[in-house]
Amino acid sequence: MAQQMKPKIIVFDLDYTLWPFWVDTHVSPPFNKHKDGKVYDQDQQLIKYYTDVPGMLHKLHNDGYTLGVASRTDTPPEAHKLMELFDWDKYFRYKEVYPGNKINHFQQFQSKSGIPYKDMLFFDDEIRNIVDVDKLGVTCIHAADGMSNAVLTEGLQKFQMNNC
Ligand SMILES: [Mg+2]
Repeated sequence: MAQQMKPKIIVFDLDYTLWPFWVDTHVSPPFNKHKDGKVYDQDQQLIKYYTDVPGMLHKLHNDGYTLGVASRTDTPPEAHKLMELFDWDKYFRYKEVYPGNKINHFQQFQSKSGIPYKDMLFFDDEIRNIVDVDKLGVTCIHAADGMSNAVLTEGLQKFQMNNC
């Protein structure tokens, strides 16, 4: 049987990849978790994520994958707060959240984790980020409509093909 090649880290963008909005534009801080366990912004707008995301993160974490976040949001504190309120902090070992070219974010992942670029898998809804990070040798998936279990499977398959 062929050896299963698995990424040593899986990295996700945030806006329009894990949740369906720009955290610096479409929602109003402060954010709060209500008694119903859901997260709302200052205008009592329910803050959503893509449906498959919490189950996906839980499964990947349980399966032993190292996970990271790369976001170029203009409001890093709000992005960190939402990850905390969604109870996702326990899943992400590495978080690089600040404006700029995502090559910088991945150079940080590489230097902090020691993981080679070819062992990384990255999902992002924006082509410009895919184009940049692809140059490093990272396997990149354009998640045009955000993350779903199907897009994750596509990414893991593409990683296998790139590494066999
Ligand atoms: Mg995005």
